[in-house]
Amino acid sequence: MAKPPDIARLLVENDDLRARLEEAEATLDAIRRGEVDALVVAGVDGHRIYTLEGADQFYRVLIEAMQPGQGAATLSADGTILYCNRSFSILLGVPQEKVGGRRFGEFVHPPDSAIWADILDTANTAPSHGELRVSPQFGPPVPVHLALNALPLSGAVALGLVVTDLTERKQQEETARLLVREEAARAAAEQVARQARASEASVRESEARFRHLADALPQLVWMARPDGRFDYFNRRWFEFTGLSLEEAAADAWERVLHPNDILPCVNRWAEAVRTGHVFQFEFRLRDGKTGEYRWFLARAVPVRDIGGQIVRWFGTGTDIDDTKKAADRQRLLGEAVSVLLTTTEPDTMMRRLFAGIAPHLGLDTYFNYMLDESGETLQMLSCVGVPEETARSISRLELGQAVCGTVAIIRRAIVATDIQNSDDPKVQLVKSLGIRAYACNPLLAGERLLGTLSFASRTRDRFEPDEVEFLRTIADYVTVAHERVRLIRQLQDTDRRKDEFLATLAHELRNPLAPIRNAAQIIKLRGPTDPDLQSARAIIERQAVHLSRLVDDLLDVSRITRGKIVLQRERLPLALILTSALEASRPVIDAAGHELTVSLPPEAITLDGDLTRLAQVFGNLLVNAAKYTDRGGKIWLTARCEGKQVVVSVRDTGIGIDANHLPRVFEMFSQVDSALERTQGGLGIGLSLVKGLVTLHNGTVEARSGGPGKGSEFTVWLPVLGDPARLRSPSTPPPVGQASGPSYRILVADDNADATHTLSALLSVMGHDVTSAPDGQAAVELAENVQPHVIVLDIGMPRLNGYEAARRIRERPWAKRAVLVALTGWGQEEDKRRANEAGFDHHFTKPVAPDDLMALLRTLSPLQS
Ligand code: ADP
Repeated sequence: MAKPPDIARLLVENDDLRARLEEAEATLDAIRRGEVDALVVAGVDGHRIYTLEGADQFYRVLIEAMQPGQGAATLSADGTILYCNRSFSILLGVPQEKVGGRRFGEFVHPPDSAIWADILDTANTAPSHGELRVSPQFGPPVPVHLALNALPLSGAVALGLVVTDLTERKQQEETARLLVREEAARAAAEQVARQARASEASVRESEARFRHLADALPQLVWMARPDGRFDYFNRRWFEFTGLSLEEAAADAWERVLHPNDILPCVNRWAEAVRTGHVFQFEFRLRDGKTGEYRWFLARAVPVRDIGGQIVRWFGTGTDIDDTKKAADRQRLLGEAVSVLLTTTEPDTMMRRLFAGIAPHLGLDTYFNYMLDESGETLQMLSCVGVPEETARSISRLELGQAVCGTVAIIRRAIVATDIQNSDDPKVQLVKSLGIRAYACNPLLAGERLLGTLSFASRTRDRFEPDEVEFLRTIADYVTVAHERVRLIRQLQDTDRRKDEFLATLAHELRNPLAPIRNAAQIIKLRGPTDPDLQSARAIIERQAVHLSRLVDDLLDVSRITRGKIVLQRERLPLALILTSALEASRPVIDAAGHELTVSLPPEAITLDGDLTRLAQVFGNLLVNAAKYTDRGGKIWLTARCEGKQVVVSVRDTGIGIDANHLPRVFEMFSQVDSALERTQGGLGIGLSLVKGLVTLHNGTVEARSGGPGKGSEFTVWLPVLGDPARLRSPSTPPPVGQASGPSYRILVADDNADATHTLSALLSVMGHDVTSAPDGQAAVELAENVQPHVIVLDIGMPRLNGYEAARRIRERPWAKRAVLVALTGWGQEEDKRRANEAGFDHHFTKPVAPDDLMALLRTLSPLQS
């Protein structure tokens, strides 16, 4: 393929150039070798002849002509100076002829040697340059710029070095830098000066700006001198108070403050001025335009100079009237609610409510009408602010009559203002009463109208919208309160009817019970011997007893709730009460196989109470403990003194009571579902009876339980008579359970285990050492061992009857001074005579009254000694 003509031409030219280059190189070599003296170069403007001499000359002239401060030199590759121009030698401060042959590095300022080494190193491969300092022979180091290039010389590599003295430039730079610095300083100084000048002006300016600002503020602003005298008020202050600066400065507080606020405020201000503390106070300021007072929150802070001296007081007053009134309203509503919820008598409730809100709204009158049962007429329930006669005359209003009657129909509020100037026929009634402003609200419970509630003022012509709203809210509250009172009454009524029903029921049930029990008794004594009939009779008897107990309980609670129970109060030893309670409950406890632990305080405790009722209290608690504890459980009856009270607790390991039910166990008919199968026909009134009776004795009772399965504890607090500590007998160290007086060894013998048990318990509780025997024979034997001080013998006993046992005991010498007590069933004269004969000292009819026994023991003390 033929080449394009252009390329062919270029190729020809190339060949030509290559030939000429070769020729030039050969010439150059010849020149170097000294074989050529001159060179003729053909040019467009004719031939020029260059000789080596001429070229060198030209070159040298050129180099020597370099500016002072710019030097040039030729170096060998290792930095040895081969040739240098004059300015170069001047720069180094060394004569030109003494420069050649020395290394340039010798002239480099030592700290910059590394820079030079770098420049030199680089120059062998590429043009290199850099700045460093050279050390002339004399004088300080000179900053220079170096440019180092490889020179195209045949043979050895040579380097051309051009050195430029930077001293001047550096100086210029330094000068420039100084100038800049100076300029900045000057500017700063100027600025300082400007500022200094400006500050005087800024005081004036800021003063002006301050006033401008203060005047634009919606708050009241004032200033005072360090001594507390006011010397500035903002525009808003003057606008609000309507005072001049002179008036204000003289006695600002007194002129504008509410009379009640002046003294506390002035005192507080004086205090702040004295101590330099921030002043803060809420007061009422009189609005110059309306004459009404508004609440402001005032705050003043001291402005101090650098030395800490107060130079001014700067104060503001913020209108907090709306917020404060809202808070006041809120508080008033709160108070109203508490009145409405704590009062159940409607008239009292309304009067108390009105007394609370009237002063805050300038009210002096209210009417509360309620719709009567017919729904046709409003009946006055309560009112204040009108003479009695007038009140009577308006005690009934027809629907539609006057304002209230109208509100009852339209079921919306009516607010009447400026009544004294009104011709509205509806308001003529209130107008005639001197009322000027009036607001009537319907009392609406949902859709149902209960009545109306009006508030009125004889001192104000109108109510503010927020006040109208407030009164509407009050009416809503009153509606709820009336509903509440109605419901409470209804409830009380139902409750009373229920109590009456229970009382009647119990009474009516009781009446047939007595004849049933008597009839059963007759059948027992005279009845057929048929065992079936006898067992049927026994069932009748047992169930009748059970029924009587239930009916009695029912009667008791209804008596308590109706306040019809009368306590037979007397001085009672606690031990006696507990013994009676134990006597009653023991069979149930024993039957369930529970272990009972009784622990009583050492001191004798006396209560003022009804023995039967208090025994009933603890008896019920003990029976409950037995009933609500699984077989073989534990029961503790514990008493101790706590100040002027005795604390008796009955604790068990039984089924416990869950926390939800605990607060309600004392309520009548309250039974825990989970315990229902154990109630054994109870009615859930035992505990309510306990509570009622304890309360009648000025005591309290509390139930505790760790929860289901964790047992229960019922604790009763009762006031004690006298100081228990002083009743303690000093003569004998009291054994646990001792009541009072001396301690005797006592033997009790009875074939009725229950009877023996309770009597022994009573005597032990009183502090005596009691042994018991189940028959006459055992009694005689035991007596011999124990040698008791007192021996109580039942008469009808197996093995050896009471008379015989007494006779045998009396025969023993140790028994001469022993006291023998007979217990008989009948108490006939004949029994007494026989007892005397047998050697008994005393004779009691069963069941022995603990009081009698105690009285007897008290007479025995001489014998003891
Ligand atoms: P009643 O025993 O006739 O039901 P109470 O007034 O004596 O009535 O007791 C009310 C309820 O309180 C009982 O039904 C029972 O659920 C619960 N209760 C009373 N005493 C105890 C107790 N010691 N342990 C657990 N629950 C008890």
